[in-house]
Amino acid sequence: MGQDGRERLGTSAEFGGILDTRIARSKLTDQEARDCGEFVERLQDNGSQGGLIVLAPHGGDIERRTDEQAEHVAARLGAGRASAWVCRGYRCGDLKAARWHITSDDIEPRSFPALGTVFGRGFADAVSFHGFTHDGSENEIIVGGGADDLKAHVAAVLVRAVAGTPLTVRIAAPGDPLGGAEARNIVNRITAYSRGGVQIEQGPLARDQYPLVIVDAVAHAYR
Ligand SMILES: [Zn+2]
Repeated sequence: MGQDGRERLGTSAEFGGILDTRIARSKLTDQEARDCGEFVERLQDNGSQGGLIVLAPHGGDIERRTDEQAEHVAARLGAGRASAWVCRGYRCGDLKAARWHITSDDIEPRSFPALGTVFGRGFADAVSFHGFTHDGSENEIIVGGGADDLKAHVAAVLVRAVAGTPLTVRIAAPGDPLGGAEARNIVNRITAYSRGGVQIEQGPLARDQYPLVIVDAVAHAYR
């Protein structure tokens, strides 16, 4: 394990550990998970619809508000048109929630049992909610993903929705690390041809002050 990985666990020193491939403790309630700094996985799905799935792999304290945004979008569209898969990871004392951050390219359905139940369905579309905290970009929304036409549409709807706010919207440039264009990014991989994903990255101002403005715009775009 490299130094970056050890620091996610609260130390740069070497230490012994036990490797466990089970990540989520989803039998816990959200409150229990919050109280004990755990990680849970939640799925809202009617068992058959293959239209849209809304994802938030980094909810809870990892990328705050993104799980609520994903669930709101799915609720706005209804269970017959949209499913939602979210994870919530919480901090515990000095252990940061970042230790639960699994990069979207690396999310493996075998480690997420609920995701595994819908992963092979072949959704037409997927949209994921994320958050970043780079200094100087607090008011940015970056729309990425593998679905080129659709991300332009979602971005255009968002531009109209945030008019009059301090927020800015841009489409991720090719090669942007937040661009979500890789076929292996879960938002693309979960769609039928691995290129139906739209990834929405949001600075803290967007998530803290305007979470539902963004929800309404994204739901509208997919409707
Ligand atoms: Zn994220």
